[in-house]
Amino acid sequence: RAKSSGRGIAVFFDQEMDELARDRRALEHDLRHAITRNQLHLVFQPLVATAFGSVVGYEALLRWQHPERGEIPPDFFIPIAEEIGAIVSIGEWVLREACATAAGWPANISIAVNVSTVQFQVPSLPAIVRDALDSSGLDARRLELEVTETAFMRNRQIALKSLHEIRAMGVRIAMDDFGIGYSSLSNLKAFPFDKIKIDKSFVASISDDEASRSIVRAIVGLGRSFNMPIVAEGVETEAQRQMLLDEGCPQAQGYYFGRPAGDPFGDAARDRQVKSPAGHLSGESTA
Ligand code: C2E
Ligand code: MG
Ligand code: MG
Ligand code: MG
Repeated sequence: RAKSSGRGIAVFFDQEMDELARDRRALEHDLRHAITRNQLHLVFQPLVATAFGSVVGYEALLRWQHPERGEIPPDFFIPIAEEIGAIVSIGEWVLREACATAAGWPANISIAVNVSTVQFQVPSLPAIVRDALDSSGLDARRLELEVTETAFMRNRQIALKSLHEIRAMGVRIAMDDFGIGYSSLSNLKAFPFDKIKIDKSFVASISDDEASRSIVRAIVGLGRSFNMPIVAEGVETEAQRQMLLDEGCPQAQGYYFGRPAGDPFGDAARDRQVKSPAGHLSGESTA
């Protein structure tokens, strides 16, 4: 009896695995067509000066509106896009879209774009960036690319070459999610970054955990000695903002200042301004 029920479970698992594999293949197929089917769009989250709360730029964040599954979060679909190689064309779309949108913004407002590690393995990345700038007319000094440390773990030579070529255009490079990666310190020494973004996990516990506060203080100190300004992400409360200011962190980003939302200088934003004084800072509909 035990044997037959064991067999039953095995059959059940086989079916379950089949279904998962089918579902995954369907998702991959949909992802490959997401651009041409107009299912991708960008939202923008403000980066502010910690001391004043004034907006200095926006980070573009990708959204996939799936016709049956609804909005799929990037933490879920970007890794799939990376695995199947679709991230290269998706990333190119993001760069073009972000530059074209930001070209219509005031000249003192910059745009930050996330670039996948996989894109950094493709030698044509600098040419893709160049083209996004040229066709939008955006000044290179208003564009910032955000990369994570894993970009420099494989094919270091290609990644480093791209990094230098892109910075030579005047585009800035920020290291994203700093502190949760592998060899943070040696990367700081080996690669020229313009900015460091402290991962939001440290910011989340900064007001009630002395260890997180020490880590933030150490990263700010590191940034100062490497001449790389520090941005804190995931700021959700005034207490966190105040502590980051006290620690000398010049820029910040988080729900406290504004959620990701549509084009902050687009027509829809102007309509929102009329309806509510909070304007685009009221942000993404779900609280
Ligand atoms: P990231 O680049 O570190 O972006 C910050 C993430 O934190 C965003 O999540 C943002 O909505 C969220 N966030 C901002 N403020 C707060 C806060 O105060 N509290 C909390 N809990 N979260 C906050 P999102 O938009 O879901 O994006 C997740 C990740 O997906 C991004 O992390 C980035 O790694 C990746 N991603 C997003 N768009 C793109 C893209 O266009 N290309 C690539 N390659 N990756 C992207
Ligand atoms: Mg980012
Ligand atoms: Mg981050
Ligand atoms: Mg992240």
